[in-house]
Amino acid sequence: MSARILQGPKQKNLIEEKTLGRFIFNRCTKYYNNLCQIDGTTDKCETYGSLKLRGTRLAIELQKRGVTSKDVIVVCSENTLDAVIPIVAGTFIGAKVSNLDPSLSTRHIKHLLSLVEPRVIFVQESSIKLIEECILNNDFQTEIIVFGTSQRYSLFSDLIKEQENEDEFEPVDVDPEDTALMFFSSGTTGLPKAICHSSRGYMEMVTQTCQIGWIDKVLHFTTFYWMTAMMIFLGCCNFGNYRVFCRNASGEDIFKIIQKYKVKSMFMAPTLTYKLTRVENPRKYDTSSLKTITVGGTPISAVQIEKLSQMFPTAITYQLYGMTEIGLISGFGPDVDQETLNRKITSCGKLSSNTKLKVVDFATGEMLPPNKKGEICVFSRSLMKGYHKKDSSQTFEKDGFLKTGDEGYYDEEEYIYIVERIKEMFKYQSWHIIPSSIETVLLEHPAVKEAVVFGLPHDEDGEVPAACLVLKQGGTIGEQEIDKFLTERVADRERLRGGVTFVETLPQTPTGKIDRPQVRDFVVNMKN
Ligand code: AMP
Repeated sequence: MSARILQGPKQKNLIEEKTLGRFIFNRCTKYYNNLCQIDGTTDKCETYGSLKLRGTRLAIELQKRGVTSKDVIVVCSENTLDAVIPIVAGTFIGAKVSNLDPSLSTRHIKHLLSLVEPRVIFVQESSIKLIEECILNNDFQTEIIVFGTSQRYSLFSDLIKEQENEDEFEPVDVDPEDTALMFFSSGTTGLPKAICHSSRGYMEMVTQTCQIGWIDKVLHFTTFYWMTAMMIFLGCCNFGNYRVFCRNASGEDIFKIIQKYKVKSMFMAPTLTYKLTRVENPRKYDTSSLKTITVGGTPISAVQIEKLSQMFPTAITYQLYGMTEIGLISGFGPDVDQETLNRKITSCGKLSSNTKLKVVDFATGEMLPPNKKGEICVFSRSLMKGYHKKDSSQTFEKDGFLKTGDEGYYDEEEYIYIVERIKEMFKYQSWHIIPSSIETVLLEHPAVKEAVVFGLPHDEDGEVPAACLVLKQGGTIGEQEIDKFLTERVADRERLRGGVTFVETLPQTPTGKIDRPQVRDFVVNMKN
């Protein structure tokens, strides 16, 4: 193999079950009495035995309603004990499962639902209206099931009542290469796509996660819309350990949860870490159970990592690098020593197991040696199968490596560093912001001729959305009106927190496209 292709270590302890449904079912049986999940907001909890029973009952009920392995089940809910049950039931019957975050905009959810055309949507009571709006006039048949109460729709609570022969239920054995889970991502350009992961690929990913992180008493914050939540849930299943989650927690709440549930490991986005480092008098809480703080998804500064280390002296803080299309790409692992972390503080660690990585020159495609920056390309046994009903060939190199759209390099010791994102998508907090979807809305305004949206660097939020606009002749409009116009049409996180700059013309690339990086650099320089 070429010396310029990095190779991660060999995978240890690969999960032997062939499908996700069988894997969850077997682990629930094995760890029947163990605690499986705790809602840190309400202090409600559930064992693996209860998870299995509720998942089985719902699986039988879904089968009675004719749902099969060909169908897609969507869950749109905040993190609750119930939100995971349709996921479990879906895997038991071999259906494809996908999750939405209820804070997404109507436009966004409408698009995502049109991609996956779910047979059933499980929705929290407060988001019924949102889902109703999104499926209005669609051309697929879908059934709504509600967590909570509703006069119009079936209730989740009615569907998990005792079923005849529930003790004899066995998960449906589907092809391990079939799509089991679908997540939504931006891809490198354009509108979000549905990323298909097979049972086999996903279990490889869970094995990698178990090798790189402490999967025990794990505190996490995101809904299952994010792949990390799924990895944490399944990683905990693998060992019969529990996960703790919470909603809208303050920094102090997080400290209390760590103390109360003896949290050992915490996965979080960099932006959330600022809630913690702002807490006054953190020594009030006993956080000595905490061993690892894993951050990823967006860059984090060395200063912030240092602050976390001081705040949680028993824990090591390190970065992971991952991508929904690939899974885990690199990280440090729980055994790393503090000296190495200090030396490599801005790195995202080393390549994860069964993964290969190369850095290629943007112009020539040539593989680059250590310390040379180029596009990071990754091959892994857990790579996505492809985008649902969309061509994914552009995402791959000829040799099967996936182009991440990230600029980066590796050093002589094979530690990986991310420099910049070259794909159009950027992240506000942990959210994908797709410039084109905001640009489309801006262009609907009668005064706007051309619009370009980009992320402006921000210490806490990663990047904030900003825009440059060219107005039509005679068009007059101010930043406030643009904000009002957008507020009515996009999600809050898509508002132009980075401001609007009005220009006469926009620079173009030689191929006639708007040169987004140049526009961004211009605005960054102007603001500095
Ligand atoms: P997602 O598909 O949401 O997981 O987003 C993947 C993208 O997030 C990557 O391609 C990177 O651009 C970015 N990303 C992930 N981890 C890191 C990290 N540790 N540092 C900087 N950017 C990251």
